[in-house]
Amino acid sequence: MSAQKRIKTEDIASPKGMRDITGELYFDYQGFFEKAQEVASYYGFQPIELPIIERELIFTTTIEEGTDIVDKEMYTLRPPKSRDKLALRPEGTAGAVRAYIERGMQSMPQPVMLYYYGPFFRHDKPQKGRYREFRQFGLEIIGAEQAITDALIIKVNMLMLEEAGANNIAVKINSIGNNECRVNYIKELTAYYRKNIEKIGKLDKQRLKTNPLRILDSKDPNTMEVNEGAPDSISFLSTDCKKHFKKVLEYLEEMKIPYQIDKALVRGLSYYTDTVFEIFEDITDEDGKVETVVYGGGGRYDYLAKTLGFKKDLPAVGSALGVDRIVEAKWYKHLKPRIIKKPKFYFIQLGIEAKMKSMSVIEILRKAKVGVKQSLSKDKLSVQLGIAEKLKVPYTLIFGQKEALDGKIIVRSMDTRSQKSIEIENLSEYIKTLK
Ligand code: AMP
Repeated sequence: MSAQKRIKTEDIASPKGMRDITGELYFDYQGFFEKAQEVASYYGFQPIELPIIERELIFTTTIEEGTDIVDKEMYTLRPPKSRDKLALRPEGTAGAVRAYIERGMQSMPQPVMLYYYGPFFRHDKPQKGRYREFRQFGLEIIGAEQAITDALIIKVNMLMLEEAGANNIAVKINSIGNNECRVNYIKELTAYYRKNIEKIGKLDKQRLKTNPLRILDSKDPNTMEVNEGAPDSISFLSTDCKKHFKKVLEYLEEMKIPYQIDKALVRGLSYYTDTVFEIFEDITDEDGKVETVVYGGGGRYDYLAKTLGFKKDLPAVGSALGVDRIVEAKWYKHLKPRIIKKPKFYFIQLGIEAKMKSMSVIEILRKAKVGVKQSLSKDKLSVQLGIAEKLKVPYTLIFGQKEALDGKIIVRSMDTRSQKSIEIENLSEYIKTLK
């Protein structure tokens, strides 16, 4: 028995939490990516395509131990016969800053504003709205510290969501300060958790040693209870950090962006400083249960570049939208990419002469940028007409043996059933006259 025969269908299924994206869903994604790129470029962002695989240390040095991403969700790779330690990217910011440093972008006009999109990977528990391969649309403003850049990132994310159909979204925002504010805050926070050490989860006990700020992001129900009484970072902000945060809020107010200050918001990545935010929607189901869906988030990361070896401070702010959650949202407008043309014609060919010349007719329509569908593999008129009816196209093009020999084609209105024979060389002009 050959090895091939032993393989069962379940053995070749796509990996858990990863899927094929086809048909209308494919265009839903592409439509969003296109719209998001349009918004991003109006606001001054430039595209960058980052590798899907980076060196593992790009993530381990910036996102750090004590976070779910580094502790348990990263897909690490050890290519055979190589000492490389690589990882599938779990997020885009660290790679974008790596690119900034590697490409010498500090010599470009500052700040450098980048956008990127594509797949990201986290070995998380798959569930509704949570995949192991998911798609994000990311924005980064690297090389600026002004509060307006934080506000710009939030505004552009809101616009992208609204353009996609969202109408009930708001921002949760917090400031976790910089290193200076954090010294005292972490001291206070550590003392608080020490006092409650018996009540917090096992993993969080470990985090108390490595990264106490992460405990605030814990999903452990016992820790979450303790977190309710934890000291908040805003009370420990220095005058400068407070000023920055206040300015960001003022911009949001000016732009009428609804926001809530969420003192418990720290986010799942450890490189953040000062501003952190999420864009969310509270959705009430039929039983009155409220579910919060987070479509994206981000924040400032003023120390990240130095962690990756950059020689000076490089203030920056960025965000990522979870595109899977957007295209699955009830409000999603099913944005269509520009390449998709609603078919205006269905092309029918009958007989070998016509089939031989079919593609030259389709080419006339493509050049005229008119949407056309066909089933070149089919022969019968009834079958092809049936498909045309189903597609609800306004016109059919009928190309039979006689037409093919005479250099003509029949244009038939599916609505009035009237038809006209046209010289093929005039087809391009004629179709412009049809509505
Ligand atoms: P983060 O990179 O963790 O800041 O996430 C930004 C956004 O990406 C989140 O708000 C989600 O909308 C989306 N996201 C994060 N992880 C996943 C996942 N595993 N599956 C689907 N979407 C995700």
